[in-house]
Amino acid sequence: MRVHPQNNVNKVFDRNEAIGTRAVWAGEGEYMVEGATQVPVVHSVSFGYDDIDYWLEVAMEKKPGHIYSRNTNPTVRAFEEKVRILEGGEAATSFSSGMAAISGTLFTLLSPGDRVVTIKDTYGGTNKIFSEFLPRFQIDVQLCDTTDHDQIEAEIRKGAKVVYLESPTNPTVKITDLERLIRAGHEVGAICVVDNTFATPVIQNPIAFGADIVIHSATKFLGGHADALGGVAVGRKDLIKQIYHYREINGATLDPMAAYLLLRGMKTLHLRVKQQSESAMKIARFLQTQPLVDQVFYPGLETHVHHAIAKKQMKMFGGMLSFSLKGDIDAVRLFLPKLKFAHLAANLGAVETVVGPARTTSHVECTPEERAALGIPESLIRYSVGIEDPEDLIRDIQQALDYVAEKMPALLTT
Ligand code: PLP
Repeated sequence: MRVHPQNNVNKVFDRNEAIGTRAVWAGEGEYMVEGATQVPVVHSVSFGYDDIDYWLEVAMEKKPGHIYSRNTNPTVRAFEEKVRILEGGEAATSFSSGMAAISGTLFTLLSPGDRVVTIKDTYGGTNKIFSEFLPRFQIDVQLCDTTDHDQIEAEIRKGAKVVYLESPTNPTVKITDLERLIRAGHEVGAICVVDNTFATPVIQNPIAFGADIVIHSATKFLGGHADALGGVAVGRKDLIKQIYHYREINGATLDPMAAYLLLRGMKTLHLRVKQQSESAMKIARFLQTQPLVDQVFYPGLETHVHHAIAKKQMKMFGGMLSFSLKGDIDAVRLFLPKLKFAHLAANLGAVETVVGPARTTSHVECTPEERAALGIPESLIRYSVGIEDPEDLIRDIQQALDYVAEKMPALLTT
């Protein structure tokens, strides 16, 4: 590949640069062609070498370069490098989706007879890996109550190969105390993995709390535009090497076009997350005043069960909130289609507000009984705040609530 000399710079990023500067510049320098200022989308499946000895050295990872895009690819590498620098990890490897990153990481680290300690409130798909797939391989899974840190810590102290955490959780935005639980995990020699999808590196860096591996569904806030699926695992070099090996052989590789879209989206990550956090706080406070709203879940609220932990480990409280309506699913049926500025869809973290009931989004895989056991009301609405003006979003929610009140006036007296 011919590289323009001006752009062939090895920029070194460190923690002195603010997250916004890193979001824009990190990972970008290496592959600029002909003076381009943007990373090229390299669709080529393979990479050719006239010199077969050099080719072998690249294949043996003794020289830099690419062989075959299921293994590595320049565009995909630039994406991995940006996430690695934002999370402050030693290495990163990407996947075709967040679930591929989660399953790839867990199946790399766990073998029959191992024990994994996790929380009940992980994303619904992740929960299925723990409840359905890992037990098939004789892996002992301990699912703990997310609100009971003493129980989680006690289970970790019994011994674990992996401690798997998520914070904030999906959809009731509970917070796990990363520093405390990672410390407990390391005391028993466990590898500590954190899904940081909801928080993003703008809000918290689990590696700074000791996490060995951080996972993202890049589909969500990292990409931010709901137009590309992807996942990534960042962290300790020795572990990422093993996870990369699992992925290159099992094949859940990130597509270069998706990598480009995610890379481009990440340049505005810090701006989006800041706006989304500020708006979410305003919307949560507004919802608290509404007679039709039963419960509001947002870690920035003083009433939130884990507000103190959230204040300790998060720089902002994020763009995700949820709330339940009085009147159960009948009220939800009236309320949701009335929203003007919201996609009713199974996604989150986008520039547009995205809304849906937990029972058709994050926890569609669960039965009503399983959702009840997780403390997820059937009328729970997950609200992923976009970058629209917050006053418009509040007005929008208000008119939809007014409509429900008009149709179900008895709710106002309950
Ligand atoms: N982790 C969390 C916290 C999620 O919310 C999701 C999806 O909603 C995933 C992982 C899975 O990501 P993907 O849909 O990219 O496979």
